[in-house]
Amino acid sequence: MVEMLRRLTLFESPSLEKIPTDRCGSFLAAEWKKRGAHVTVFPQKHRGAHLRLAWSPSSFRPKSQLLVLGHYDTVYPTGTLARTPFRISAGKAFGPGTFDMKAGIIQALFALEAVQQARIKLAKQIVILWTSDEEIGSETSRKLIEKEAARSDAVFVLEPSLGPRGLLKTSRKGVGEAELIVHGLASHAGLAPEKGINAIHELAAQIVRIEKWKDLRRGVTINADIIEGGARTNVIAESAKATLDLRVWRTADMRLLEKRLYALKPIHAGARLEIHGGFNRPPLGRKHSAALFARAKALAAQMQLSLDEAAAGGGSDGSFTAALGIPTLDGLGAVGDGAHSSHEHVLVKTMPDRAALLAALLATS
Ligand SMILES: [Zn+2]
Repeated sequence: MVEMLRRLTLFESPSLEKIPTDRCGSFLAAEWKKRGAHVTVFPQKHRGAHLRLAWSPSSFRPKSQLLVLGHYDTVYPTGTLARTPFRISAGKAFGPGTFDMKAGIIQALFALEAVQQARIKLAKQIVILWTSDEEIGSETSRKLIEKEAARSDAVFVLEPSLGPRGLLKTSRKGVGEAELIVHGLASHAGLAPEKGINAIHELAAQIVRIEKWKDLRRGVTINADIIEGGARTNVIAESAKATLDLRVWRTADMRLLEKRLYALKPIHAGARLEIHGGFNRPPLGRKHSAALFARAKALAAQMQLSLDEAAAGGGSDGSFTAALGIPTLDGLGAVGDGAHSSHEHVLVKTMPDRAALLAALLATS
């Protein structure tokens, strides 16, 4: 498993770089093909290809399917590997993208091998999607994910688990991004201050207003994380912009927050507001994961493994599948730490356990 993880990690696959990412995708497609999967490649104009890998025992035609979901793109630009090479140290495999989520992909590969070698009579076809743009919002893969999920009885998401004990993610916050743009009117700050409409002042007043929508107890947060505006000190600022991060646990809060945002009215006379964006990943509620988690926990117990759950503040592609009402279990991938950082790594000894857990889930679904 470590050797396969090393080979996969050596193919750098930054979401924004099509050519290397396609190379990584070709490697993955070939590995699944070797194991008898039916491979469909969905090439993308500006991104790496999305891969659909289907497998079922040759002896029957399954009527339904299970979806294994993950992404092979990473947040690291080409060249990161030269600074932080793949290496094993003290039982950890370090390298860009190992934890998020190349080790999860390798675990799925070995889970398939386990199902094949144990000659398990699967009741359902296994469909695996490895997509190439999850780290940048899944713009080109979302439709494909939703289409396959809608045909599936359950979705197993190979995103990393949480913390050193490898907690599965049974709920996730809905995540959004919005832009609040203010149009004012420029004027000389000294000669004609009465003619200006200060866009920065308007934006500041709006930020004070929206900050009050935050409700930490309910898990509703709205943060202006990037602001820009103005041109010179003696010119009343004509425009200003804030980029907002939005997060909620509940679908109702997601709708309410979007409604409030789009209903904002200017505070300063003459100022004009422009609002873009909103939630791009809905919340993943525990009701969509609880039954699968209970089964995973029972299967883990049979393997003398303890398995617990947690809620995650970020979204994943599992958020899309759960929003369709399809049972979804997330965080089934690697155990490790340091996603999106230079110390990203996985705990090697957990890889076979997690592969076995996935195989058991597939065999019993
Ligand atoms: Zn990920």
